[in-house]
Amino acid sequence: MGKKALYNKVNKVELKESLAAEPFDRITASFYRYVKIDEPELFRDDLYQKWDMLNIFGRVYVSKEGINSQISVPEKHWKKFIAQLNKIEELKNIHIKQALQDGPSFYKLTIKVREELVAYGIPEDTYDMNETGNHLSSKEYNKAIEDPNTVIVDMRNYYESEIGRFEDALIPDVETSKELLPEVKGILKGKENDPVLLYCTGGIRCEKASAYLIKHGFQNVNQLQGGIIQYAHDVKAQGLESRFKGKNFVFDDRLGERVTDDILSSCHLCNSSCDRHTDCKNDACHILFIQCDQCSEELSGCCSIECRDFASLPILEQKQLRKDPARVVSKTFFDSRIKPKLIQ
Ligand SMILES: [Zn+2]
Ligand SMILES: [Zn+2]
Repeated sequence: MGKKALYNKVNKVELKESLAAEPFDRITASFYRYVKIDEPELFRDDLYQKWDMLNIFGRVYVSKEGINSQISVPEKHWKKFIAQLNKIEELKNIHIKQALQDGPSFYKLTIKVREELVAYGIPEDTYDMNETGNHLSSKEYNKAIEDPNTVIVDMRNYYESEIGRFEDALIPDVETSKELLPEVKGILKGKENDPVLLYCTGGIRCEKASAYLIKHGFQNVNQLQGGIIQYAHDVKAQGLESRFKGKNFVFDDRLGERVTDDILSSCHLCNSSCDRHTDCKNDACHILFIQCDQCSEELSGCCSIECRDFASLPILEQKQLRKDPARVVSKTFFDSRIKPKLIQ
């Protein structure tokens, strides 16, 4: 495993360098659609071939229930890319959201086949994708917030809402997506007739969540069309008041798009005001956490003294130590309320 990690690292550096050297601009964009895809593997292979030719980068998931894409498209190929999409039956006239440009996002293309588009882990008979919540535009969403009976629910993970969220939104207290929907249903108990406003990053999680809530008796379920990504756009383009404060966490190298100047979170190490996620520079750790400039400097971008000392060892020695099971550290996104797991 050590070998592979090393190879990937070198590769990643090279890929990033070649991205930086590109003499053209890129557009970061995202789209999703719940649509029946009979043979996800074939669909994936076809898409990969087409997009690779256009030099498109990104992270894409294909499943029998649809597609979810975050991509970076060379500006000069944008028109061709759209024309191609419209020739694919399942993707015709799909709504595409462009990101607020904020630095390089992806440097390679991966398209993976998955069981579910969003890993809620809920049985198929607990939702019906033909009955989803009303889609509200950003303007309509702002208006709906004014209703005192409205309940706003953040459908994302804690580490996402930590750096940015709608004012007065309920933040479900769960560790994984699998616990999220039953928890939200519980929180909303007794509010079956009240307006419920859901939101997430780009809309895909609300699509299924709203179907689940409707199936469980909620009468007035609404979702933010295009998610926070679209909302941030509309705030700028239409001069709307942003009821979303802080940063929108995004799942690419940028790790966040600033929506307003408010800083809602603090450095996980020293508690000073900060909303910048980083991943620990120790290759055996890579924990995602919030770190201020000063702590980053003191720890050379690592989450702890232990990681900094480990990362400063020669690569060969690191590889040797990583084989020792007693030193294995968590590589998963951690719940940011818990201090990072250190090397034991
Ligand atoms: Zn700090
Ligand atoms: Zn670390």
